[in-house]
Amino acid sequence: MKIAMLRRHGAAALSRLPGFMGAVALATGLSMAGSRSVAASEDALIVTLLGTGTPLNEPDRFSFSNLVQAGGLNLLIDAGRGTSIRLGQLGIPLGEIDGVFLSHFHSDHIIGLGDVFSTGYIRVPTLGGRVEPLNLYGPPGTQRLADGLLLTFQSDIETRMLDEGVPEAGTQIIAHEMKDGVVFERDGVTVTMFTVNHGEKIDPSVGYRVDYKGSSVTFSSDTKYDTRLIDAARGTDLLVHETAAAPAETMENPIVRDILDHHTSPEEVGSVFAQVQPRLAVYSHVVRLFGPNGRVTMREIIDRTRNTYAGSLVVAEDLMQFIISDRGVTVVRGGI
Ligand SMILES: [Zn+2]
Ligand SMILES: [Zn+2]
Repeated sequence: MKIAMLRRHGAAALSRLPGFMGAVALATGLSMAGSRSVAASEDALIVTLLGTGTPLNEPDRFSFSNLVQAGGLNLLIDAGRGTSIRLGQLGIPLGEIDGVFLSHFHSDHIIGLGDVFSTGYIRVPTLGGRVEPLNLYGPPGTQRLADGLLLTFQSDIETRMLDEGVPEAGTQIIAHEMKDGVVFERDGVTVTMFTVNHGEKIDPSVGYRVDYKGSSVTFSSDTKYDTRLIDAARGTDLLVHETAAAPAETMENPIVRDILDHHTSPEEVGSVFAQVQPRLAVYSHVVRLFGPNGRVTMREIIDRTRNTYAGSLVVAEDLMQFIISDRGVTVVRGGI
């Protein structure tokens, strides 16, 4: 694992890191380490990208899921494919998730939720053995999802309770259907929800910003270019944004056009990054479409982004981690 630190003030040097697509501004140089040895202070906000992919079932890029740790809490932003696997890789018991925040109900953002919910109440220490309900936050529709999960796992719940003594409370879900604004405040951690535009038929769709002791991260989730996201993200340290692109020769294909019409183009994301000016911009959930001559490349997407944005930018990988505090942003490249 490799660590790079972006300090909060100044930009005296520019450097390139493996995996970093573009110049990373550094105040006093670059610190690298061979492990996650940079101690996260109690004042730090830690963001781990659990899944950086899309609906494509790729082994090295699970679908969208993120872990935010602050104030002693473990919060999930979306729960795509493989969320429980990545949490296991981090050594975090599933039963110790304090809240799940859903952006919308596309399968690539929720497909791992049933695993986190149902495996989290099994009475095995490494799994957590949750004894309290799982708190699920999201826009209207979250209750219906919770009801469906309870129905799906009804037999498992009944037998685990009867056979293994799992307490009933641990098998429940409390659904918090929220509107824009602050949706969570606990132990110094504030989560703010804001509506985004993921296409007129995909309503609701929201993004989230998490603030803790002056540090923050903002997730666009799935959206087209939206000034509401820019307003919500202003002043944020880390902005995790989606994008979508297709090979030029496919642009007349109606399916391609329809997919692109639900997302933000690289040029538009560059404009978002330029307006928000996060300490570090991150591409995650990158929809790279295919054409007769192959898939659009990440290099092409970066080059298009550079038409409108010249600041720090990193392309996410599963288990990439960011430690944010008043000392700056430390980037830990995880590896799966
Ligand atoms: Zn979506
Ligand atoms: Zn998605």
